[in-house]
Amino acid sequence: MLVIGTGLVLAAGLEPTPSITSLDGMAPVSVPFDLGALKAKWRQRVGAIRASGQLPLIDIESSFGGGKFNPARYATLMDEHGIALTAFSAEAGRWDERTRILMAADPARYIPTTGAGIPPWWPGGAEKLLTEVAEAVRSHRYPLMGEFEFRHYPSPRQVKRGENDRDITVPIDGPLGHRLFQISQESGVPFEIHYEVEDALLPPLEAMLRQYPKAKVIWCHLAQIRYQRRSTTYGPEYVRRLLESHPNLYFDTAFGGPTSIYPGSNEPHARIWDRESGRGIRPDWAAVIAAHPYRFLAALDIGGDRMDQVGEPAKVLRQFLDAIPAPEREIVAHKAAWKLLFNEEL
Ligand SMILES: [Zn+2]
Repeated sequence: MLVIGTGLVLAAGLEPTPSITSLDGMAPVSVPFDLGALKAKWRQRVGAIRASGQLPLIDIESSFGGGKFNPARYATLMDEHGIALTAFSAEAGRWDERTRILMAADPARYIPTTGAGIPPWWPGGAEKLLTEVAEAVRSHRYPLMGEFEFRHYPSPRQVKRGENDRDITVPIDGPLGHRLFQISQESGVPFEIHYEVEDALLPPLEAMLRQYPKAKVIWCHLAQIRYQRRSTTYGPEYVRRLLESHPNLYFDTAFGGPTSIYPGSNEPHARIWDRESGRGIRPDWAAVIAAHPYRFLAALDIGGDRMDQVGEPAKVLRQFLDAIPAPEREIVAHKAAWKLLFNEEL
């Protein structure tokens, strides 16, 4: 165990942080990925963080920017915040090559994740992207796909920057949706969707979950409702019914903190927090999670425009996890992700 200058305690037995500050000019690792060897490294890292007394986190949903990503810096942040593994999707350029370079640079910290359904590849260029993604899960052994934006309001940062190109609507039951569900159905590899909570969007998603019972869907951002007037159905009881009707559905828990406001609507969009008591999460949400802990996955939603800001989302995620009872807390923090990706216990 090592106490560093910030007062944080680092676990013993962690893989050293890489010394490189850029992925540029590095050679990619060969594919298919050797998942057996990788899983051995990943288990060791989870165990080292647990042995240090910190609850290890597996971040199921984050992405890294093209040229600006600093492997040494990011590894240090992960170690400081007890993030055992990050499922990282490359945001720009040739995503497969970037991801393979990442896995060459630091194989102990990252779960290779395919290119995501985000601009500039999506929805223009989506056919090509999905062909590459299908090949990557089939031949390169990527264990996760995503995140694909079917309905996406601009993020808080994008609203503030006036970037409306991220206001995306792709029908989930249209050709691209069918193709993606089919890839997952055939490969067994899960994919992540960004799908805002609106009444009109719920029936088509349910129809797709029924039509592709072996497709594994991670619906990102549990309980994030940005315009309450567009959402009268979704809530803990609806989510419970969805989980009980569709064994192939999962949720990730990347959402804002208790005081976070969505600037597009001026509403508090992370609806999970208990605003009445001012403490923890709403008991009805806690009850659904405790009843189905393997269906909820810890996530930080780090992106290329905020690679240095790991501390705040990690704090929010731990605040949420602290409100979950102990046996389920560990499941949501890391065991559920491992079980979903590898069908084994961690
Ligand atoms: Zn998202």
